[in-house]
Amino acid sequence: EPVISVRNLVKTYQLGEHQVQALRSVSLDVHKGEFVSVIGPSGSGKSTLMHILGCLDAPTSGQYLLDGKEVSKLSDDELSAVRNKQIGFVFQGFNLLTRTSALENVELPLLYGKENLSASERRKRAMDALAAVGLESRWEHHTNQLSGGQQQRVAIARALLNNPSILLADEPTGNLDSKTSLEVMDIFQKLQRERGITIVLITHEMDVAEYGSRIVSFKDGLIVSDVQNTQKATYT
Ligand code: ADP
Ligand code: ADP
Repeated sequence: EPVISVRNLVKTYQLGEHQVQALRSVSLDVHKGEFVSVIGPSGSGKSTLMHILGCLDAPTSGQYLLDGKEVSKLSDDELSAVRNKQIGFVFQGFNLLTRTSALENVELPLLYGKENLSASERRKRAMDALAAVGLESRWEHHTNQLSGGQQQRVAIARALLNNPSILLADEPTGNLDSKTSLEVMDIFQKLQRERGITIVLITHEMDVAEYGSRIVSFKDGLIVSDVQNTQKATYT
């Protein structure tokens, strides 16, 4: 059974008198441990799909089953639990607090979480997440003392904090140069291989998409191709 299963998703935005069909009829199954790269030109509907998969937005019509559960039937509390525990989010802008250490940035979701963890337990969880992205030695560095690639790694560590089974990444390399982009993609690939995390990653760059085990292409709100990627790129 797929972790993510969407059928005939349609999303229409009303812009004044006009309607924009961001998704026209999208069906997609993602299985546990897959690394799906979603590629396509600007405006083709990738972010709209990602917001729906992340339960941040609802489709105009169509069905979304997450772990076999119909998302439209979840209560607000259940949706919030899905967003906080089951799914980790990574964005183009790193969304980190400045003048705050890497460790404190990673700990943040635990401060607002419902588990009442002790300071030392929060710190341990955050250090483990920083280690998973190879940044444990930089835990004291403030955001502005880190390179763009390191900042994105801190953001990935933060997304991992509650051990999500799914990572959703929207243009995570959009602010990075090409070498740094590939280093960050290497981390996503490791998370897939070593932890079996399911990844859906949006990009408009083919060399970034090549890190996925599967490449889904969007055009004008539709999936126009969906292929297994047998020659996965790896960073050396
Ligand atoms: P992509 O991520 O591939 O660039 P988007 O999903 O962001 O594409 O956008 C798909 C289409 O929907 C575009 O035409 C965009 O202008 C439109 N769109 C996206 N968000 C909104 C919104 N909140 N209101 C109106 N139109 C939107
Ligand atoms: P809660 O319901 O516990 O107040 P949310 O469900 O609003 O929290 O947020 C859960 C996660 O979803 C957070 O980690 C946040 O980063 C992300 N998130 C919430 N809203 C948005 C949004 N509009 N765009 C991007 N990410 C969001």
